[in-house]
Amino acid sequence: LFGLILFLAACGGDDTSSGSDDGGGSASKDQLIGVAMPTKSSQRWVDDGNNMVEQLEALGYETDLQYAEDDVDKQIEQIENMIVKGADALVVASIDGTALTNVLEKANEQDIPVIAYDRLIMESEHVTYYATFDNFQVGVLQATYIEEALDLANAEGPFNIELFGGSPDDNNAYFFWDGAMSVLQPYIDEGKLVVQSDQTDFEQAATMRWDGNTAKSRMENILSSAYSGGETVDAVLSPYDGISRGVIQALKGVGYGSGDLTLPVISGQDAELASIKSIIAGEQTQTVFKDTRDLAAVAVDMTESVLNDEEAEVNDTETYDNGVKVVPTYLVEPVSVDIDNYQEVVIDSGYYSEDELE
Ligand code: BGC
Repeated sequence: LFGLILFLAACGGDDTSSGSDDGGGSASKDQLIGVAMPTKSSQRWVDDGNNMVEQLEALGYETDLQYAEDDVDKQIEQIENMIVKGADALVVASIDGTALTNVLEKANEQDIPVIAYDRLIMESEHVTYYATFDNFQVGVLQATYIEEALDLANAEGPFNIELFGGSPDDNNAYFFWDGAMSVLQPYIDEGKLVVQSDQTDFEQAATMRWDGNTAKSRMENILSSAYSGGETVDAVLSPYDGISRGVIQALKGVGYGSGDLTLPVISGQDAELASIKSIIAGEQTQTVFKDTRDLAAVAVDMTESVLNDEEAEVNDTETYDNGVKVVPTYLVEPVSVDIDNYQEVVIDSGYYSEDELE
């Protein structure tokens, strides 16, 4: 291995993880892009990382892709290593969006530009661009699905709903929540939707690090404390597929999904394979597809632009204030997916193959 490292170093690259040996004479050859991703435990980030590497290498860049398994200090260390290795640009999907101020300061000292990937990096002026999906719209899609599935505009109700939020250290979680509540709050106010647990604030509903088991435990507690008198859950707002599957386990644990007790309408996000399978099996109801190929293309374009001293294409220059500056952003459109359109959206588009769903 050491020999291989020496050989690679002699070739001009000191990255051994995924460096390209492309000899195509591209102008960007020999430039190293560090790509820091949060965790492999959720499938979307694996896809994001692979897409980034594939697209960057196709352009002749070398890449250093790292996953930190949701460990904030580990992510900081990985970014520090990228700086030491001489990365020319960094693309970062943060774990804790507020924890990178110091390490970005170090990147700035070496003139390394930083692109925030999917999640906004907070409290730093050294974020050049932000590539993400329309996060508010994600919440609107989830809640509108619930609204239509229960026919809230016409039905008398009342219906019981429980609310789950994402990780409080992820700026996106607030956008998903606000988007969803923009649709649901009026029905809660009018009494057509009832939150039996009374847990209606984001702080109460939040799920640290998007952890499915945390959500499962919270749902179990809610079921035993607020639904022991025969009430049933009609809908669950869930911001992420891993949380949805945890909630479904809790519901099945007390008998939902068998006999007369049908599972509630339950939203999700990311169109993870396990959740598409769950939708096909009639358990999870909806998810939101975010095409990571498109997001990677946006982030790669931003990276190229900053390296070439050009302006990248953005479509939002007002929304994403990280506490220090409003970061110029490109928002990709998310798509709502259920049993009726999953085939078209995730299979026919080539995102998954039929085989993967077996
Ligand atoms: C992403 C979502 C994802 C969640 C959990 C968010 O920042 O935008 O797509 O479901 O993190 O990984």
